[in-house]
Amino acid sequence: MVAKSFNQIEISKSALQHNYKLLKKLSRANTRLLAMVKADAYGHGMLDSARVFQEAGCRDFGVAEIGEAVQLRKSGIDDNIFVFLGFAPGDVPLFFTHEIIPIIYDIESARTLSSEAVTQNKEITVHVKVDCGMTRLGIMPDEFEEFVAVLQTLPGIKYGGLASHYPRADEPNSLHTREQFLRFECLGVSESKVPELVAHTANSGGILYFPDSSCSMVRAGISLYGYYPDGDDGVKRANGEKLQPVMSFKTSVLQVKTVPADTGVSYGHTYVTDRETTVAVLPVGYEDGLSRSLSNKGEVLIHGKRAAIIGRICMNLCMVDVTEIEGVQAGDEVVLLGSQQDEIISGDAIAKLMGSISYEVLCLFGNNNQRTYVE
Ligand SMILES: *Cc1c(COP(=O)(O)O)cnc(C)c1O
Repeated sequence: MVAKSFNQIEISKSALQHNYKLLKKLSRANTRLLAMVKADAYGHGMLDSARVFQEAGCRDFGVAEIGEAVQLRKSGIDDNIFVFLGFAPGDVPLFFTHEIIPIIYDIESARTLSSEAVTQNKEITVHVKVDCGMTRLGIMPDEFEEFVAVLQTLPGIKYGGLASHYPRADEPNSLHTREQFLRFECLGVSESKVPELVAHTANSGGILYFPDSSCSMVRAGISLYGYYPDGDDGVKRANGEKLQPVMSFKTSVLQVKTVPADTGVSYGHTYVTDRETTVAVLPVGYEDGLSRSLSNKGEVLIHGKRAAIIGRICMNLCMVDVTEIEGVQAGDEVVLLGSQQDEIISGDAIAKLMGSISYEVLCLFGNNNQRTYVE
């Protein structure tokens, strides 16, 4: 048995389900909603999250690497699974064994898949990634026609769809996103001889802010986990039903002590008390995903009140100022992410202090701590 850690991530299944259903409602009626469950579902747990999405009606899942896809398959996800980051030649048989759909971006991969298909006397469906403006993975639009022509001559390869990815769809007014979508649409149209082709380019920003760019499938990541791709701005802009944050992060106080003014706290004494100060020591540090960049910046909730992180965050410990909070004791609940009584600390607020985005906060917290699932 694994002993329970002080530090616990709580995942709300009902919030995952709510977000899936809301995004489905916001997409066009016939648009498939693929759940991006890479990075262990942005820290929420790939297998458990995928099962919740599946129950909510999801039939398409996206991961980065083949290893994740195989894990999903073995856990009983029998729907479409897409691998977005390519593969090593040695892993090609796994795509056939587990019927996984690779997203390809070079002809060498297609040839490798084709020869395996011939060997196994099977057919494999592939989707083609086109770089319409992200400047990341993908073939360039001017190579697309020729690429597809060659692809369609390869035995055992079924050209099933095309994909692109938006770099700026989290900016609701980005002209770039419209331009990129036009570039993508042109490719789709030229392939109208393949009517069952699945086209997908919208991420969360695309779904929320460019709904007319939905095509036949959209790929939601951060929004499934309850966050807007543009952070607090998105929360403010959203009218009607909102996404619900899914993750909370809780720990408990280890020790409480009162020290006089002029006392240095933690490594380097980067914080020195300016009055008699009551300090609570918490069993959470950068090893648990609480970034060291939050030293002397972050806050936590204790007894429903905010307590500032003082001094440097250590590997497994940090200190907070509880002078103004009555009666704090060892064992009291501490919330690092989520709500306690009337107060709330959001992933966006933490991200802002780190100079980052909610995506990173969720991965750091979720993937470095024990998770429990609640309804
Ligand atoms: C991660 C990812 C997404 C999801 O992006 P969000 O902004 O989290 O919605 C979509 N498509 C691809 C290719 C991705 O890598």
